[in-house]
Amino acid sequence: MLSVAVQPPGASGSPPPPPAAAPAAADVFQYPLPTWSPHCLGFGSQWRYCNGVPLRACPSGAVWLHTGADVQTGIQPVVAAGDGVIVGYQTDPTFRGGVLIRHQTSAGVVITQYWHVWLRSGFGVGTPVKRGQAFADVADMGSRTHLHFAVFNGDFESHAWNGALPPSSCSGYPAFPYRFVDPTAFIQAHQHQPPVHFARGVRLEG
Ligand SMILES: [Zn+2]
Repeated sequence: MLSVAVQPPGASGSPPPPPAAAPAAADVFQYPLPTWSPHCLGFGSQWRYCNGVPLRACPSGAVWLHTGADVQTGIQPVVAAGDGVIVGYQTDPTFRGGVLIRHQTSAGVVITQYWHVWLRSGFGVGTPVKRGQAFADVADMGSRTHLHFAVFNGDFESHAWNGALPPSSCSGYPAFPYRFVDPTAFIQAHQHQPPVHFARGVRLEG
């Protein structure tokens, strides 16, 4: 006779496979907001307000290109995309607060950049953060409120702050994308993929 291979809750069947393929915690990243809907600008978009007015251009007239992804959001907590340490915080009357978090991954140092946020009390340069930990809140910019999130594939330096870069080097800035990578693609490639036995366990919780 055939037996049905469904285990009742709490049954101890064959042990799950060892998590040999699980990535190290330092290599796992997640989105810093619970939803991820594009705002006006994506990675590589011309750096313009939603109404089309350019924010910055080279003397040649070439409009700068956006190094991050802008994401629709209300005013809510922003969580760290990965385990790391806050290495920069600055504020600007136009852009509100910017935060840089340094992540030591097995593939090298990566910096995640968050603009238009306010750092929460108790957090500052040098504070370690865990992936998923709320360290900031989205800043109120009225009808322009959004999160700017970028991923800089390198260690801390002045250009890790840039929200846009020129299409070809000008005014002392390197050409886009320099060390920036598509942040949405980066997160998608580094999200934790649950082992199969975790996925099977989901039904036991419902
Ligand atoms: Zn932006």
